[in-house]
Amino acid sequence: MFLTYVSTQPASTASKTSSKKRSNRLFNVGLVLSFSLYSSLVAAGFEVVALGVDGGVSDGNLTSYLIRDDSQPVYLALDAGSVLPGIAKALDKGNFSDITDEMAAPLTRQGYIFRQRINSYFISHAHLDHVSGLIIGSPEDSKKTIYASADTIDVLRNYYFNWRVWPNFTDSGSGTRLGTYRMQLVRPAQSLSLGLTRLTGEMYPLSHDKSPSSMLLITSNNAAFAYFGDTGPDEIEKSKNLDTVWRKLAEKVKQQQLKGMIIEVSYPNEVDDGKLYGHMTPKWLLKELKNLEKYSGEGQPLKGLPVIISHIKPSFQQGQDVRKVIAAELEQGNDTGVDFILMDQGDSRRF
Ligand SMILES: [Zn+2]
Ligand SMILES: [Zn+2]
Repeated sequence: MFLTYVSTQPASTASKTSSKKRSNRLFNVGLVLSFSLYSSLVAAGFEVVALGVDGGVSDGNLTSYLIRDDSQPVYLALDAGSVLPGIAKALDKGNFSDITDEMAAPLTRQGYIFRQRINSYFISHAHLDHVSGLIIGSPEDSKKTIYASADTIDVLRNYYFNWRVWPNFTDSGSGTRLGTYRMQLVRPAQSLSLGLTRLTGEMYPLSHDKSPSSMLLITSNNAAFAYFGDTGPDEIEKSKNLDTVWRKLAEKVKQQQLKGMIIEVSYPNEVDDGKLYGHMTPKWLLKELKNLEKYSGEGQPLKGLPVIISHIKPSFQQGQDVRKVIAAELEQGNDTGVDFILMDQGDSRRF
């Protein structure tokens, strides 16, 4: 089942709808002997808001997601390609409904969410489509921590916040340090608590052509969620990075803790392997998910696992709807039974 989820409702209603859909599906497949592990977990653990979902080309909708433990008020931003336009879109769609004008005053609701509800950032890698919203919004941002790998911090410090491209809003690097952002280096597999979000994270390296990228395994109260920065498949990248991540995530699947993941599929299958530049097609993601399945145990351990497809590169070809093509190609080869989901900018969803 391919679920294209468009939420125009407040998150609480969306959550009920989602639970209802899940229970309907459960009812429909009532003859299946083993219930999906994931469908039975009706009690939600995380809220995810899509601030930007595309993998480039058009500014205003570039990769950025907010995640929070849904018992907590503040979010961790997962990349920051488009931040303020995404908050505006989510407000238009009726999300962030718990935040009133009175609560936000004297700020606008958009400004309040940006400054007060985004508590910290995780940046998967320093490509522009993942950091432009952070850089452009920095003069109006509040004091926050940026969590990232050594390489990402190096690029942010030396190539963006260097007083030549942009003032240095960080707490390190060249010239006057304005100190808005505390740069927190994250080492692979090191467990760390993420600001005031009550979330815990572990970062793992990914291979993204010639750039190091990373994924974050987020946990809270025995619930886990995986966020992948840009990555190519191991076979093309000549890497074992995804394999390492799948082994790690398989532990969470076995413990029935993995609530979902956000991972990229940048291009449809028609793009040659030689022209992926560190990205995935549906064919390659399906192949990689088989690897996760293999490590996760007998039967169909991934059945019903929400897999949010991110970072689709828009096409300028008339009549080509890349999102539809990628959705169809994923569904066609979906023999692990995961739930592929495309979130649109401004959508909110609970996991
Ligand atoms: Zn990207
Ligand atoms: Zn990239």
